[in-house]
Amino acid sequence: MKDTLKHKGMRNKLADSLVAKGITDKKAINAIRTIPRHLFLDSGFEDHAYQDKAFPIGAEQTISQPYTVAFQTQLLEVAPNHKVLEIGTGSGYQTAVLLHLNVKVYTIERQLQLFKKTKRFFEKMGYRPKKTVFGDGYKGMPEEAPFDGILVTAGAPQVPKALMAQLKVGGRLVIPVGEDDQIMTCYLRKSEKEFEKKEFGSFRFVPLLEDKN
Ligand code: SAH
Repeated sequence: MKDTLKHKGMRNKLADSLVAKGITDKKAINAIRTIPRHLFLDSGFEDHAYQDKAFPIGAEQTISQPYTVAFQTQLLEVAPNHKVLEIGTGSGYQTAVLLHLNVKVYTIERQLQLFKKTKRFFEKMGYRPKKTVFGDGYKGMPEEAPFDGILVTAGAPQVPKALMAQLKVGGRLVIPVGEDDQIMTCYLRKSEKEFEKKEFGSFRFVPLLEDKN
């Protein structure tokens, strides 16, 4: 698949629609305006890639809806060179959005098939996360902690303690919490012991699953 003018046109429309839906983070919008989302999907979905919808990516998983990607990115409030941990690499689209913001991305996926496919895709496209790891996101990545930001892209029944512990003071954890639907939740670490919690609207994610390996 190629990236054509037609794709760019559709991408611009999608980016404009996210602004209309209330996304204010210009860098996140610019990333969505730039990244060829159709290349992250199987060719059968090429014509749909610039709709503001989630689509299947295999292994019963989905690429997040662009609005959700923009919203989570906005909540993370990253700056260039920040260290960010992403839980749920999936298609790699959210990873690419973070890389576009010049952050150092560490990403974990627990579905082996998706992990392998997306790792190869990153190499082919020249996307360079610092680490692409096959493993259980509930545990985070203690060997690389602490992080300026942690972004969970699957619905967590509860907030994993390991992720709270791996946040820098001043860092943010953005996590959808809940079973059937999730409340988008942001924890700002104010000090070693103090977290400020803020809740945003309701979303629907595939579940964050405990390690099955
Ligand atoms: N960021 C992805 C979203 C994929 S959906 C994208 O933009 O495409 C959520 C992903 O989280 C799925 O790929 C799923 O396999 C993965 N996942 C679920 N539980 C996990 C866990 N415990 N650790 C790591 N990844 C997990």
